[in-house]
Amino acid sequence: MKREMTIPFVDLKAQRLSIREEIDGAIADVMDACAFIKGSHVEQFEREFVAHCKAGHCVGVGNGTDALFLALKAFGVGPGDEVLVPAMTFIATAEAVTMAGAVPVFVDIDPSTYTLCPADLQKKLTPESKAVIPVHLYGHPADMRAIGDIASAKDLVVIQDAAQAHGASLDGKPLSAFSPCACYSFFPSKNLGAYGDAGAVVLNDAARAGHARKLSNHGRDNKYIHEFEGVNSRLDGLQAAVLSVKLRHLDRWTKARQDVAAFYDAGLSGAQGITPPARAKGAGHVYHLYVLQCDKRDDLRAFLSAKGIATGIHYPIALPFMPAYAAKQHRPEEFPVAHALQAKGLSLPMFPELTQRQMEYVVQAIREWSDSL
Ligand SMILES: *Cc1c(COP(=O)(O)O)cnc(C)c1O
Repeated sequence: MKREMTIPFVDLKAQRLSIREEIDGAIADVMDACAFIKGSHVEQFEREFVAHCKAGHCVGVGNGTDALFLALKAFGVGPGDEVLVPAMTFIATAEAVTMAGAVPVFVDIDPSTYTLCPADLQKKLTPESKAVIPVHLYGHPADMRAIGDIASAKDLVVIQDAAQAHGASLDGKPLSAFSPCACYSFFPSKNLGAYGDAGAVVLNDAARAGHARKLSNHGRDNKYIHEFEGVNSRLDGLQAAVLSVKLRHLDRWTKARQDVAAFYDAGLSGAQGITPPARAKGAGHVYHLYVLQCDKRDDLRAFLSAKGIATGIHYPIALPFMPAYAAKQHRPEEFPVAHALQAKGLSLPMFPELTQRQMEYVVQAIREWSDSL
């Protein structure tokens, strides 16, 4: 099989072109209204997004990292507290904990779903444990029932990192049914992406949401009366207007991602040396990423690259082994599953606009590699 095409890992341009008029109209609207910070476009998006999440309240903020930080603060997490986070995630999950003045404690992941392992969570609890942040990694919901049981026995706050999981569900229920708070990122390449940085804290409780909102806006809701010091992390009008347009397409895009995943699953089933991603029973997976495992990952990656197929690695170094956390002196044996995934995980091209021909080409190339083993 010759190199016949080039397939990007994500194609933001294809999506931009498909909704060009709608977006440009919405942007012009914000510009004409000069509603740059807060304002009606932000309020409208918050209403629409909270309805999509089937939750109580949505606080639009500057980005997903701030969403996690503000959520931790809103639930009173701070100095002296430990917060349990998965060993395999984007660094923001742990960074937000440190930003809040608490200490991130790493928990290994489950070998089939790649999300926080409840058994290891149980082992990592100490009297200082205050909160846990399950991450719905790659769009697969974490094991919220088992995590919830452990959390309620220990009175832990459960803050979900849903940065990769807009619209994900578990046993037919939305993520909001499983804990009082979930945090979202609208980084451009996320399943729901803005045209810049943006994020949201989605909460079930009104008082907590009001507090998070004040925290995000200099500790106030009245112009110059500050009840306490907060930060400046607000959703801006332009991003909100873009997000409102894109939210109307999200369910269709999610379905397209699930169709791509189903095609990959079928095409790769039985391929030697390839372990496609698993989906737990009842998991409404939204496939932010399609991450397979392969012992000869780097060889496969180079082969696909030569065929014109871009792939990604999420993530090449698990958090306990990051230079940023070197002071913790973690060893691979402490996080065997995360350590294996960093060497074996390979993310295939995944975006809603992937064409049938592109998907076929990806599967055909992987099978060619696999057949030559
Ligand atoms: C993207 C991401 C974040 C952070 O979001 P930003 O908007 O980039 O700050 C947090 N957690 C996870 C798992 C993410 O993928």
